[in-house]
Amino acid sequence: MRLINNFINGQFEVAEHDKRFEKRSPVNNEIIASIAEAGRSDVDRAVISARNALQGEWGRISPEQRVDLLYGVADEITRRFDEFVEAEMADTGQPHHVMTHAFIPRGAANFKVFADVVKNVASESFRTSTPDGRGALNYAMRVPKGVIGVISPWNAPFLLMTWKVGPALACGNTVVVKPSEETPLTAALLGEVMNSVGIPQGVYNVINGFGPNSAGEFLTQHPQVDAITFTGETRTGTAIMKAAAEGTRDVSFEMGGKNAGIVFADCDFDAAVDGIFRSAFLNSGQVCLGTERVYVERPLFERFVNALKTRAESVRFGHPLDKASNYGPLISSEHREKVLSYYRKAVEEGATVVTGGGIPEMSAELAAGNWIEPTIWTGLADDAAVVTEEIFGPCCHIRPFDTEEEVVALANNTDYGLSTTIWTQDLTRAHRMAERVDVGITWINSWFLRDLRTAFGGSKQSGIGREGGVHSLEFYTETRNVCIKL
Ligand code: NAD
Repeated sequence: MRLINNFINGQFEVAEHDKRFEKRSPVNNEIIASIAEAGRSDVDRAVISARNALQGEWGRISPEQRVDLLYGVADEITRRFDEFVEAEMADTGQPHHVMTHAFIPRGAANFKVFADVVKNVASESFRTSTPDGRGALNYAMRVPKGVIGVISPWNAPFLLMTWKVGPALACGNTVVVKPSEETPLTAALLGEVMNSVGIPQGVYNVINGFGPNSAGEFLTQHPQVDAITFTGETRTGTAIMKAAAEGTRDVSFEMGGKNAGIVFADCDFDAAVDGIFRSAFLNSGQVCLGTERVYVERPLFERFVNALKTRAESVRFGHPLDKASNYGPLISSEHREKVLSYYRKAVEEGATVVTGGGIPEMSAELAAGNWIEPTIWTGLADDAAVVTEEIFGPCCHIRPFDTEEEVVALANNTDYGLSTTIWTQDLTRAHRMAERVDVGITWINSWFLRDLRTAFGGSKQSGIGREGGVHSLEFYTETRNVCIKL
């Protein structure tokens, strides 16, 4: 069993009163780690060490030196790749290839890409006229915002945490990270990496624990935290926003979704089935950008439902290290209970269960894990709970549509606005749709195809602000205007 401690001022520390909590494996619910639960005094020390680091060596080094250190972090993650893969697999139970092809390489890329962005982005300047004819020169300089509180979720823990830590450090801030209580392993491992490449003490801190009345709340309420970046559920965002109102601190929120996949009859059929399959079922459906509502143009409806059913029924459940398996469990037994409650509700609401709806039969050593079947429904009303609420599991409802007008209205009939995936060969229509579907991210004939320089974030209740490329710079720096009278 692993012992995971908080990482404060470059040291791994036990928590006040030596308080700890347990982490269970999603694949069999055995205890795999004991985690130090940070109390208020631990959080306080982490924030103070982050503040002190701003005044120390980290605050004085040149942007070039900072960028080089972050390239070093990326290289060291790559050198210790297998350890990160193993830790993330233990935390999430997701298949080996998901870790090696997506989640861990993206973690390293988050340091490299934002180091590049900081190195290459120019700042604005204006020549200003004055009555004496000599004029003035205005230019903008970017200064770090200060101590950034990073609150992250469990569904792609390393990728989502470094997506915030990478740009925050590239811009010269210091961070206090509160990883999800469900997935603490890779944040701790990153502490070792920070020390070994020479990131000064106090620049990267990790405090473990829960949300309310625990490390998450202590961090967001701390008056010395200058800004908070959060990824997680919308209602958690509401609580954090209240905490951030004290001291009017800035927030960046990436939150829930109930994303629509839209399939027109003129699509490349196989590509659309594959894309919607991945968007509904990758990571066992635990992806914020995932598709839980699928709208298919009527002539294609039955063929599409059958093809997606075949794909969903072909997944191979198993241990992440088992090469024959390609499908993992849900993160926790509590989360499985929540998803199963939606499976039951779908039936109560009158759904036709196309496939799934229950728990798969597993071998004796995995039977206690959080396994659940990929599930497809049809026939629900547009206002059914299953069609309107974020489930965050491997399931989707498929409904036919007849016109573009109708499908735009259906896609927008939600309080969320994170992403959509649209499948059509008619690019004029695709562009028209992209203007009308009210989301932050639109994928045409693709899904989850990411370029880290592009704006990422949600509309409506899916988020506040955008991160990615220069948008991250906007959040993680203050722009200071300097006016020189000539
Ligand atoms: P969650 O909101 O339950 O928890 C996220 C983090 O917030 C955890 O670290 C948790 O401990 C902390 N937290 C909880 N209550 C808190 C409080 N009152 N104060 C401070 N911190 C608190 O979310 P989750 O279940 O870990 O993640 C799943 C959710 O995240 C889904 O809704 C999903 O859509 C969303 N998500 C969004 C994106 C995005 O980019 N938009 C990406 C991934 C996940």
